[in-house]
Amino acid sequence: MIAGASMVTPDGVLDEGWLEVQDGRIAGLGSGPPPRTPDRDLTGQWLVPGFVDMHSHGGGGATVMGADAGQVQTFGATHRRRGTTTLMASLVSGPVDQLERDVRALAELAADGLIAGVHLEGPWISAARKGAHDENVLTAPDPADVRRLLDAGGGAVRMVTLAPELEHGLDAVRTVAAAGAVAAVGHTDAPYEVVTEAVQAGATVATHLFNAMTPLHHRSPGPIMALLEDERVTLELILDGAHLHPAIAAHVRASAGAERVALVTDAMEATDVGDGEYVLGGLAVRVQDGVARLVEGGSIAGSTLTMDSAFRFAVRHAGFSMVDAVRATSATPARTLGIGDRVGALKEGLAADAVVLDADLQVSAVLARGEWVA
Ligand SMILES: [Zn+2]
Repeated sequence: MIAGASMVTPDGVLDEGWLEVQDGRIAGLGSGPPPRTPDRDLTGQWLVPGFVDMHSHGGGGATVMGADAGQVQTFGATHRRRGTTTLMASLVSGPVDQLERDVRALAELAADGLIAGVHLEGPWISAARKGAHDENVLTAPDPADVRRLLDAGGGAVRMVTLAPELEHGLDAVRTVAAAGAVAAVGHTDAPYEVVTEAVQAGATVATHLFNAMTPLHHRSPGPIMALLEDERVTLELILDGAHLHPAIAAHVRASAGAERVALVTDAMEATDVGDGEYVLGGLAVRVQDGVARLVEGGSIAGSTLTMDSAFRFAVRHAGFSMVDAVRATSATPARTLGIGDRVGALKEGLAADAVVLDADLQVSAVLARGEWVA
C-alpha cells in the first residue's frame, strides 16, 4: 500500500492518491484516506505509470546488437532505474544472417521477461535517409527474408521499421502487420502517396517522426504529412533537445493530440555512461555533451536520452500537461504495441509498474511488477 502522491490515472490526477499492490499487480486505487496503513508515504510527490520505451538500442555501456544475457540485463537495469519498466530492444541494420542470430537470442530473453520484444530498425530502409545505419547492409525487403526474421523471433519481433518505397516495401508492411507486429514507417524518402498507401496497408507507427525522413515541403509533403494526418498512426518523438526543436514537439502534440504521441529514447550504449568513443552497428560514434554523432559525416547516431528526461522535456519545453506526458510515455506506446491490457496505466488489474517523481520531476523511486527497484 502506497499513499499520499498526486497520482496520474487514465481519468486524470487523483490528489492524495493511494494504490494497493498484490502479486505484482495493481489490486486497487483511489484518493483520500487509504483503506489501511500505507507501507510508503509519498506525500508531495507524483506517482505516474512505469514508462514504456518502444525504441531503444542500448544503455549503461551495453548494446543489444550481438548482446548476451548479461549485457541485456545491464541495458534493462540502466533504463529501469530511470523509470522504464517496459523496454523494447531495437536492432540497427545488419546482415540478415547476423540479425537472425540476434533475434533468436533476444527472443529467449523476451520470453524470460527481460525485454518486451524486439524492434528491427532496418535493414529495409532508404540509403538516402540512412542516418547512422551502415549503408553497405541496407537492402530491399525480400519477402523470404522478412518471413525468416519474423519466424526467428517466434512472436518476439514486435515492431519493424522500414521504408515503404523500396521494392516489396508495401508487401513487407502487410506481412509484418499480418504477423501481429507493428509496421513502422521510417528512414524513408517515400513520396506522400506511397506513405499513405503504407498506412492503408497496415503501418501504424512513424519511427522518430521528422528524423531520417524527407522534410516537409509545400509542393511535396512527403512522409511527414502522410504520417501526421492519419489518426491511426502513433508518432514517435525523440525529446532530447537535439533531435527536434521544442516548438515542433509542441505543434505535434497540439495538432495530433497527446494520445497519438509516443516519446522514445532511441538510446545507444553511451546512455548513463558519458561522453567518449563508441560503436553503433559497426560504425564509429563520438558522444560529446551527450549528443551522439557518427565520426564520419556527423549524422546524429541515436541519443543518450532516458525516458524520465524526455518526460521532463515534454512538460517543461513542449507544452505537455502531466496527463499528456503520462500518455505519451506509457498508455500510448503500450496500446501501440498491443500490450495496453497488461501495462501502461495506473489501473486496477494492470502490472504494478510505477514511477515516483519528486516536485522537480526527478525519479525518486521505481516500482516494477510490484517490487521497488534498488
Ligand atoms: Zn533507432
